[in-house]
Amino acid sequence: MSKTVDDPLLSLEDVSVEFKDEPLIEQALPDNIVERFGLGESPVKALDDVTVELAEEDALVLVGESGSGKSTLGRTAIGLQESTEGSVKYDGYDIDAVREGEHAGEVYFEDIRRALQIVHQDPGSALNPYRTVKSTLSQPLKLWYPDLDLNDRRERIRRMLQTTGITPAEEYMERYPHELSGGEQQRVAIIRAMLVEPDVILLDEVVSALDVSLRVDVMDLLLELQDMFGTSYIFISHNLTNARYFADKADGRVAVMYLGNIVEIGSVEEVIGDPSHPYTKILKWASLPLDPMEGRETIPEESPIMMEDPPDPADPPSGCPFHEACPKAREACRNEEPELLSADDDTDRLVSCFREDEHHEYWNSEPIHDEERDIPL
Ligand code: SF4
Repeated sequence: MSKTVDDPLLSLEDVSVEFKDEPLIEQALPDNIVERFGLGESPVKALDDVTVELAEEDALVLVGESGSGKSTLGRTAIGLQESTEGSVKYDGYDIDAVREGEHAGEVYFEDIRRALQIVHQDPGSALNPYRTVKSTLSQPLKLWYPDLDLNDRRERIRRMLQTTGITPAEEYMERYPHELSGGEQQRVAIIRAMLVEPDVILLDEVVSALDVSLRVDVMDLLLELQDMFGTSYIFISHNLTNARYFADKADGRVAVMYLGNIVEIGSVEEVIGDPSHPYTKILKWASLPLDPMEGRETIPEESPIMMEDPPDPADPPSGCPFHEACPKAREACRNEEPELLSADDDTDRLVSCFREDEHHEYWNSEPIHDEERDIPL
């Protein structure tokens, strides 16, 4: 069952983000957007009318190809990226309004920045090479807890290093990043975020740069820390295997993204175990199975679908954003954009496809693509 969100900690309602010549606030534009599409006269719609919520001690896993909007959604949810349209609320407060100084006396933007943290993909570049582990981890404590003295800070850092298996802690405190393995660097980056007791951490491809053997260790550590501290996670991954593992263990939801839209969201059993949206099915086909002994379903070699890049977000197609590649597309899909609706089954999942509505005109319209292009989804 997909976890329902009765009392959301974070809520995004009809949120869109467009990039023009410059990013909207001080944060850098995600590299993958710039590399793939550049920035020209036309605005790039990186997020298109997205609505999603996150509860306390929740986990939302975002999957999709590079440039699908995962990082933009994550960064917008934690206030690092300003939205162009819609509202993003933390604990009921509109983050952009708080950023502008509204609700002063009740909540300040600094409180939100502390409560909503991020861990990046590459800990090597996220850690200052000239600072020891102790110095790196002291910085957020000095910033957010100025009343702590040197001994208090040292003790908090020592305890977190021990908790996360970086021992002997006293010795590691004096090391520099280049004296740590990739897995140890990522643990230090996670500790840096955890030390300020956040409500939500955005984990942006945090295991992607690690050896396969270390990925499960780091994901397990994150899950243990969630149990200890009750933190909510937004876990971003282009890798369906990692997404499935994390969402399953965290009892979280999986949201599949395509061209700035969530096209399917639900529990891991629903979305990855038995996908409904044509794009999710293709993603699953293209992924390695969790169990290497488990056979992978055959991807038709002649299918042009797998060879096509997603459309240019600066010039998105009309209608369903997936219709140019979708093997199930019909004429109706060219004209109207599907909304996220309850799936036409007994699950809690939401799916953005006309095929979920048995009364939609889709069923009476002509297929767009040639018969030979069709694959048995
Ligand atoms: S609405 Fe049409 S084009 Fe879009 S996913 Fe469904 S069948 Fe494919």
